[in-house]
Amino acid sequence: MIDAVLLDLDDTCFDQREFLAGAFGAVARRAGELGVDSDRLRDALETIAAAGSDRGRIIDQALETLGARVPVGPLVEVFRSYRPARLSPYPGVRESLGQMRRLAPVGLVTNGEPAGQQAKLTALGLGDAFDAVVFSDELGRSFRKPHPAPFRQALELLGADPGRSFFIGDHPDRDIAGAQHVGMRAIRVQTGEYASRPDVVAPWRTAPDAASALRALVVAYSRLSSI
Ligand SMILES: [Mg+2]
Repeated sequence: MIDAVLLDLDDTCFDQREFLAGAFGAVARRAGELGVDSDRLRDALETIAAAGSDRGRIIDQALETLGARVPVGPLVEVFRSYRPARLSPYPGVRESLGQMRRLAPVGLVTNGEPAGQQAKLTALGLGDAFDAVVFSDELGRSFRKPHPAPFRQALELLGADPGRSFFIGDHPDRDIAGAQHVGMRAIRVQTGEYASRPDVVAPWRTAPDAASALRALVVAYSRLSSI
């Protein structure tokens, strides 16, 4: 039996670089209005983010690279309030989520500012693809994955036992170690900027991407049910 399948969002359901490219474009346009060379700033933002998009101070560093003396606050606000009209899920994600959902409830557990994460879901056309959505920041920033609380909340919303539930995610610590700590079986997908980062704990399985992981669970479920 599979009680529930939970997924991460960024770099699991879609390529986060698509979001960042749009957000950095918006930042560069605003900086251009302040007299900064917007093409050079966009290049600098993308280069710095490619070295690790969650290190923080990316906009400050990019401005320093250009020697641009403009206040960073309004540009950070442009980044935070960026809402893309459309984003593309990784191939097969939408379809395989639908197949999985016919067999077992499917949930989402994501870190990040809730309004922004909700906007990504809508832009991806995945706004109604999940039976439960947990934004860990609604519990408090200190409860971000790998904290067990958001995993447990999603399981509880779906009435699922962790031992009969699966997590699909890209981050070796936040997703894989976090999910396995609460007793779930985690499938590490090899997409996104952390794909080559070493394991923190051995995942239950690895898969090239989320659609493959979901299809494997659909097949496993069908086999189990026919025994
Ligand atoms: Mg992720």
